[in-house]
Amino acid sequence: MHELPIIERVLDLALAAAPPGERIVAVKLRVGTLCDAEPQWLERYFRVAARGSVAEEARLEITREEALVYCPSCGKDSILVLPLSGPLVCSFCGYDHVTVVAGMEYQLESIEVAPVQAPVRNAARVKGP
Ligand SMILES: [Zn+2]
Repeated sequence: MHELPIIERVLDLALAAAPPGERIVAVKLRVGTLCDAEPQWLERYFRVAARGSVAEEARLEITREEALVYCPSCGKDSILVLPLSGPLVCSFCGYDHVTVVAGMEYQLESIEVAPVQAPVRNAARVKGP
């Protein structure tokens, strides 16, 4: 399982970004389609890892990010269609030594915070992972 270390890292970043006295109501996470993490496991681990913290009742919002490869042969980027059926190839020229430029990473995009026992007030941008 790769999801637990991802969630621990994301939760650490989110908690560090939350202002004192505020609780986290939403955690927005972008996960590349090549990132070896299942959203349902991320959600499940998040519920466990956040227990007892100010993120305990936060929603975890996961956006999947398309995988992109760059082809050094023709110079174009192409979007990978998943699931992969064979080696990574350029969808324009078929060259098979393409470089993955997006889709393997995960990123904490933002968190929403609110004063404890109050409605959502603002959103804080954070850098990650
Ligand atoms: Zn190409």
